[in-house]
Amino acid sequence: MGSRVIEVRGLRKRYGELEALRGIDLHVDRGEVFALLGPNGAGKTTTTEVLEGYRARTDGEVRVLGHDPATGGRAFRERIGIVLQSTGVEPFLTVRETVAMYAGYYPRPRDVDEVIEVVGLLEKRDERVNRLSGGQRRRLDVAVALVGDPELLFLDEPTTGFDPRARRAAWGLVRGLVSLGKTVFLTTHSMDEAQALADRIAVIARGRIVAEGTPNAIAGRDRMRTRIRFRLPADGPSPPPSAERGPDGSFELRTDDPTRELHELTAWALEQGVALEGLEVAPPSLEEVYLELTGAEEGAS
Ligand code: ATP
Repeated sequence: MGSRVIEVRGLRKRYGELEALRGIDLHVDRGEVFALLGPNGAGKTTTTEVLEGYRARTDGEVRVLGHDPATGGRAFRERIGIVLQSTGVEPFLTVRETVAMYAGYYPRPRDVDEVIEVVGLLEKRDERVNRLSGGQRRRLDVAVALVGDPELLFLDEPTTGFDPRARRAAWGLVRGLVSLGKTVFLTTHSMDEAQALADRIAVIARGRIVAEGTPNAIAGRDRMRTRIRFRLPADGPSPPPSAERGPDGSFELRTDDPTRELHELTAWALEQGVALEGLEVAPPSLEEVYLELTGAEEGAS
């Protein structure tokens, strides 16, 4: 099998009339953080649950750690760790008791205290679960997923509802998993999360992968994306014909050659004797590409 941890070809899932997955191809290599990025209802959870072996597929080939998850059974489940969007850990157990209980389900668990330390809950080790904050609960979920020493971790929207600080901390935690040699498959609808964490991203919209690659490759796939924005004085000249008026009254140019475009624009401004107010050059953003990709797909169907 080599370094390939997940291999999916032509995955389809039908719920009655609805075809939720319409032929998904993707692969994840060992040691990668892979993000499945897409809006609500795109098919992320369905894909993830098929990979975890918790949902039957309608069609397609799926191999996870060399197993077909649909038939992998216990030998397969012991090698994966799952962090769901919400978990039902026992509220009156302490952090340590919870992790120790889950450790008991696995043949070769990691050391309980070490796992608690990895997720940054050492100080809360003896706290009851119902007294943890949302972010701390999520860390406990990760600890529970980690304690069986899985090779592959599934994280379903790992930072939903987090404040910015908790989010950063969770990102640090995911990066730490990679340094433990884990492979991570995560779902998210946040571009900045995918960009911050993933080695590779697949963008899913309405049951189809609409783009796949490194965050930079996806952001740069449309080279016309560099944006130059400026304002002109109210009594100033008309802008150059290639500039379009934005909703806030500023003007905007799109270009695949920002060096030349800026040169021509500033030459024009000097010639006209006007100042380009609030001049701004913005690189292509993953967010913009994402909105375009997922929006185009929405419109098409
Ligand atoms: P979110 O970001 O909101 O969690 P998602 O990308 O995970 O969304 P899925 O939960 O995979 O999306 O859902 C994909 C589509 O399949 C949606 O249209 C959803 O309504 C539908 N769906 C999901 N589960 C079922 C089910 N058990 N029965 C019928 N339809 C379902």
